[in-house]
Amino acid sequence: KPTNLIILGMAGSGKTTLLQRLRAHIYENKIPGYIINLDPAVANLPYTPNIDIRDTVNYKEVMKQYNLGPNGGIVTSLNLFSTKFDKVLEILERRANQLKYVILDTPGQIEVFTWSASGSIITELMASSGPTVLVYVIDTPRTIEPTTFMSNMLYACSIMYKSRLPMVIAFNKVDVTDHQFAEEWMTDFDSFQDALTADPTYMGSLTRSLSLVLEEFYSQLQSVGVSAVDGTGIDTFFEKVDLAVGDYYKYYKTDLEKMK
Ligand code: GDP
Ligand code: MG
Repeated sequence: KPTNLIILGMAGSGKTTLLQRLRAHIYENKIPGYIINLDPAVANLPYTPNIDIRDTVNYKEVMKQYNLGPNGGIVTSLNLFSTKFDKVLEILERRANQLKYVILDTPGQIEVFTWSASGSIITELMASSGPTVLVYVIDTPRTIEPTTFMSNMLYACSIMYKSRLPMVIAFNKVDVTDHQFAEEWMTDFDSFQDALTADPTYMGSLTRSLSLVLEEFYSQLQSVGVSAVDGTGIDTFFEKVDLAVGDYYKYYKTDLEKMK
């Protein structure tokens, strides 16, 4: 069965660019992959997806027809698409034997996917069809403040607990800023505390308690530094994905059986 990768992250973190890089990597290594674009509002994609939400729903028309603003238009487009997602699954099912990866790009605004009914439906359908890993893309240069870092990680944490799926954190843009500081903060509790106390925006004991929660979260996830632009870390990225797939079978799959 192919591994499903759902690419998530704040707008501008580099989801689309990373997807293009992953696509180039699997193509060069002759690994069969399949790309699904779930962003109805993207104007130009740097790659041609195999399945494109834009072929099914016209986001601008949806806005007009339902008298919606941009965000409502995106949510409604995704809702309309999710009602036809069984068709997507059929196509994937037919190709399951030939594919190694199915990669999904999500809308620019992360909450549209992570906090909408259709986002949950699509995630759950993918996860019950086969091994599924969430890829949370982080804009490393914009996460060097300890408090920003923590709010980003709490967001990732909430997504992981909501979906119960294994997660790979991709610290992107390491061509601009090395992600070593992030690895240190995730593995050495004291170094993060030191960075926090040195931060003028430090909020005291709440942050301290939250970072204890995060310690537990960090122990469950995979992380890797990548550059979607120059290709740094992409081999390691796929190694981490394989580890996460192991977790999918170990935890998610058994939870799923228990619920039946
Ligand atoms: P998305 O909104 O998450 O899909 O982000 P995009 O893929 O559109 O990227 C947002 C911006 O970040 C673009 O200007 C990209 O060129 C830039 N970008 C993405 N990945 C990298 C990277 O690895 N390094 C650098 N320097 N810039 C990047
Ligand atoms: Mg994008």
